[in-house]
Amino acid sequence: MTIPLEKEVTLPDGQKFTLPTGLFINNEFVKSKSGHTLDSINPATGEINGTVYAAEAEDVDVAVKAAKQAFKSWKKVSGVDRGILLNKLADKMVEQRDLLGSIEAWDSGKTKEQNAVYDIDECVNCFRYFAGWADKITGKVIQNDPNKLAYTVHEPLSVVGQIVPWNYPLAMSAWKLAPALAAGNVVILKTSEITPLSMLYTAKLIKEVGFPSGVVNIISGYGKTAGTALCVHPDVAKIAFTGSTATGKLIAKTAADTMKAVTLECGGKSPLIIRADADLDQAVKWAAIGIMSNQGQICTATSRIYAHESIYEKFVDALSTHVQQEYKQGSMFDADAVVGPQVSEQQRDKVLKYIQIGKQEGARVVLGGEKNAEGELSKGYFIKPTIFADVKPSMRIVNEEIFGPVVSIGKFSSDEEAIALANGTEYGLGAAIFTSNLTVAHTMAADIESGMVWINSSNDSDVHIPFGGVKMSGVGRELGEYGLDMYTQAKAIHVNLGTKL
Ligand code: NAD
Repeated sequence: MTIPLEKEVTLPDGQKFTLPTGLFINNEFVKSKSGHTLDSINPATGEINGTVYAAEAEDVDVAVKAAKQAFKSWKKVSGVDRGILLNKLADKMVEQRDLLGSIEAWDSGKTKEQNAVYDIDECVNCFRYFAGWADKITGKVIQNDPNKLAYTVHEPLSVVGQIVPWNYPLAMSAWKLAPALAAGNVVILKTSEITPLSMLYTAKLIKEVGFPSGVVNIISGYGKTAGTALCVHPDVAKIAFTGSTATGKLIAKTAADTMKAVTLECGGKSPLIIRADADLDQAVKWAAIGIMSNQGQICTATSRIYAHESIYEKFVDALSTHVQQEYKQGSMFDADAVVGPQVSEQQRDKVLKYIQIGKQEGARVVLGGEKNAEGELSKGYFIKPTIFADVKPSMRIVNEEIFGPVVSIGKFSSDEEAIALANGTEYGLGAAIFTSNLTVAHTMAADIESGMVWINSSNDSDVHIPFGGVKMSGVGRELGEYGLDMYTQAKAIHVNLGTKL
């Protein structure tokens, strides 16, 4: 199939832009060699937003060759100059915040004013933060033998493959692109087949601010074809992935054949514990943010809540009231709407299936528990914010990642029981504890098996602070200095200062 390489778009909020539809390779938008395409669907209407070219293995090979060539000169660009380019990209995103927010909302189902524009701010913070690191990457001098000068240099890995999901198309890309480029790598980033549009537009900005050809390549494409091609390619040194645990496991296995470095940010079933001494009003507000934001499509969503038995009923009622009052559902361009549609029909059906399972398992439906078919919303993939109470540890809704606006609430009677419930999962991404007792807070934080613990907050992510999981939630860290380390490797240089044989 042949489609034009550009499409003029008028968004529902009246903004106009030119959507590139090609694969962004070597600073040009090109057709896929096979002519294969994919459709991006509007989650509020089910209509096609755009058709774009989809990469296959042969296109991935072209992108890798372009990146490999670009690396020869990119690795000689100074850290200061790399940082300047990253800051220029951040400036462009600030300038185009409103348009980028609209494209992101339109493509992914995020409500624009209450959600999508904050993702653009997150991207800006991320590019600026890693721009600051670009000229501060240093090795060490290792002093042991007076007859030897030994030092390390922290080198880029070279060609890096990055695979991102649909829940944060721009922010997850920024989390990966910014440290990789700051450290001097070249990149091929594959977007999710469900949400390719915002990064295609961002590719234009990447070219405009002056990144040299081949340094950043952005391809749309399916996981099984383009994603696998990146994972098996012998000239790709690393794969950085965010997505489901099932795909993460597959990627680790596939990448092992060519001994690639791998970082995996995968699924979660994060607990939120509320002790009897907690500030209940704050716990309610953070608990709602922790599961209802982004339609519950957050890997760190605190989807299992455990409240102390003495405050349990009070908390369940207060959470239900708060969600009804503050989490209005509506389409992406309804300025008051907080909760939009799920990203796709498939995802909507998966969440509805879990709601059905929860009911069959005997959990009490406190709120929601069905799709939202009111008026215009009936056309889209809307699910009412849903609260299940009286859940048991054996229930599937307590153990499996639902990835929707669905929370399970259970009770506990002692701190030991709360920790056991929190850790009774194969996942280990985030965990939240609400208490006014500082000693208990830190003791519990130490006992919880997760990559991140929030004391008296939830889902409080910050570009300065490492993000990532343990157990089946992943390997490695993104963001902060730890995230930067994932994009360099130490080379040891030994200089003989006098040892004679
Ligand atoms: P997914 O695993 O289906 O897809 C993620 C990406 O991987 C997509 O770009 C997809 O095309 C690609 N992919 C799929 N199969 C592949 C393969 N065999 N080889 C290479 N690439 C492949 O996940 P999704 O449905 O897009 O996203 C939702 C999931 O992601 C949820 O389970 C969620 O928990 C997880 N997630 C985790 C984090 C985190 O930071 N830990 C963040 C966001 C989402």
